[in-house]
Amino acid sequence: MDLQTKVADLFMVGPIYAKRLEKLNIKTAKGFLYHFPFRYDDYSLISPINKVQPGEITTIKGTLVEIKNQYTRHGRKIQKAQVSDKTGQMEIIWFNQPFLVKTLKVGEKYRFSGKIDWFGRKKVMLSSNYESLASEIHTSRLVPVYHETYGISSKWLRSKIAWLMKQIKTPVADFLPETLRKKYKLKEFNQALKTIHFPKKPQAAEKAKNRFAFEELFLLHLEVCQRKKAWLKEKLAFKFFIDQEKVLKFMENLPFELTQAQKRACREILKDLSKNKPMNRLLQGDVGSGKTVIAALAIYLAWLNNTQAALMAPTEILAQQHYQTLKKLLEPLGLKVLLLTGGWKNKDNNFDVLIGTHALIHKRAKFKKLGLVVIDEQQRFGVEQRAKLIQKANLPQKMSPHILTMTATPIPRTVALTLYGDLNLSVLNEMPPGRQKIKTWIIPPQKRENAYQWIKKKIEDSDEQAFVICPLIEESETLQSVKAAKVEFENLSKKVFPDLKLGLLHGRMKSQEKNEAMKKFKDGLLDILVATPVVEVGIDIPQATIMVIEGAERFGLSQLHQLRGRVGRGSKESFCLLFTPSISGKSFERIKALEKINIGSQLADLDLKLRGPGEIYGTAQHGFLDLKVASFADLSLIETTKKEAFKIFPKINQYPLLQAKLKKDKIKNIEPN
Ligand code: ADP
Ligand code: MG
Repeated sequence: MDLQTKVADLFMVGPIYAKRLEKLNIKTAKGFLYHFPFRYDDYSLISPINKVQPGEITTIKGTLVEIKNQYTRHGRKIQKAQVSDKTGQMEIIWFNQPFLVKTLKVGEKYRFSGKIDWFGRKKVMLSSNYESLASEIHTSRLVPVYHETYGISSKWLRSKIAWLMKQIKTPVADFLPETLRKKYKLKEFNQALKTIHFPKKPQAAEKAKNRFAFEELFLLHLEVCQRKKAWLKEKLAFKFFIDQEKVLKFMENLPFELTQAQKRACREILKDLSKNKPMNRLLQGDVGSGKTVIAALAIYLAWLNNTQAALMAPTEILAQQHYQTLKKLLEPLGLKVLLLTGGWKNKDNNFDVLIGTHALIHKRAKFKKLGLVVIDEQQRFGVEQRAKLIQKANLPQKMSPHILTMTATPIPRTVALTLYGDLNLSVLNEMPPGRQKIKTWIIPPQKRENAYQWIKKKIEDSDEQAFVICPLIEESETLQSVKAAKVEFENLSKKVFPDLKLGLLHGRMKSQEKNEAMKKFKDGLLDILVATPVVEVGIDIPQATIMVIEGAERFGLSQLHQLRGRVGRGSKESFCLLFTPSISGKSFERIKALEKINIGSQLADLDLKLRGPGEIYGTAQHGFLDLKVASFADLSLIETTKKEAFKIFPKINQYPLLQAKLKKDKIKNIEPN
């Protein structure tokens, strides 16, 4: 066995468990060992039975005298055990674990850890962890608690990890250079691993965590160095001639004046395009900050330089919308804009700009000479994806198109620079003038009726429209979320707004149907559009002024901010109503921030700070890498690890272990988990 051994080949892990473990992203022995606990239960206090106190969390060591199943008055099955030691006897109670009667053997000695509490008038231990006296994994110590998944308990993981740990007979060589370990007082690998799972003291666990946080960020930076190198490796791009006069004319012809932020981004992009190295730039800006027109300018320049351009959108609706916008902007200048649809059979590559979804462009597109690719809302466009695209680009050897990636995902700047350090970054930190702040209210259940009345009146009195976004059930469009949307649609159209016209939009509709629904809404034939959260991105409808979000507490702040950005596109005052089941607690405090803050990156910061383990947030959906141990809030560690990684990378061949590690991680990059 070594760290790369597949889970299914490990002792006592069958195919069923292997499958379940995949949900936790555990595929190898290493995956197990790197599945770190998110907290520890402290059972290190060991008491004689006659000394235990209610309220205390403690461990007793004793002999099992009796154990039986019983029903409570409410019909619940509970398990009652009697345990004795030299000082006395006490009862332990479990709820709904009938198998314990068979697992635990009367007459044997065990350790039991749990909370002492009153049960009726008796002092008992509740729902205790237990194990035989010989073992000391689940009781009597700081006990690690892990993220679980269906069919995989923390206890099971703990046993497996403890077992695996014992199999490591010779210490694993530490790939972190010793100089770094000394300089930053980092624990050695084997020690750190042991300590993070089974620490003796909380402080020791903390130190072990520091080592893995350092390691995680350090490797991340090294990967960035590597990607950057791979990106530029022997690749050339068309060095575009920038015709300043035409650029100015393009800007003058726009129906508005570009914001300072837009102008700055344009300058940065034009500079990239005028080099013979492929551009790799991320353009980040809140919804409505005006990214499209910047993309249009880049595309225009590609055309002036006799190359084609492609724009890849995450959804068909967005592709449609980009098509409309770009046609308007670019056709008068002489460009042929084409929308790639599912039915497009064509050998005809006679276009200047091709717009389509990622999937379609990868599958169907053919180019004569592709000079520029614009990617909307997908950040992880790496070296590998580019390699695939280059195959279709029909370019001379060693040439690559320029690449511009756009995102509205509000990422704090430091985070962007960490994760996408191989990309250059342009930020639109300013909104076009005349945009109003969207009034945001949190609506508790008792105000729902009033809110509906208000919406109704608002819509009846004007030609304004509303979105209703259904709660986030899962990260992707599942049948379940589609069903929820349908139910909500029925409820709203029959009971709440019987006199208004409602439409439904969800990801499982045929694209034809989707387009029809969108078009109807856009043309004002619908008053309210009920949609699933997944169809959130980038719809531009100026007369939509009300955004209703159901189950707001289930979303991340950034996601809510992006959804909110669907309204307020016109000049009219706009509103965002966040429906939530309660007006207290942590999730309420969290979404309350939206009432005050309207800058994406600030909300992103807050989101990071408040993010708790195991909660559903929108980051995965955006391909935004999550950290396991380190925190994006730890700016100084991000800085330190970056500095050290950039120092070591040029001489990485002096660190064979590190080099080997990086090679392996490269494979991981091609297939993001
Ligand atoms: P996003 O960054 O979300 O992609 P868009 O590019 O769709 O934003 O722009 C949103 C709207 O703002 C569009 O209708 C666009 O025409 C308009 N717009 C863009 N830039 C400006 C500007 N400088 N002044 C006024 N309106 C602008
Ligand atoms: Mg956009």
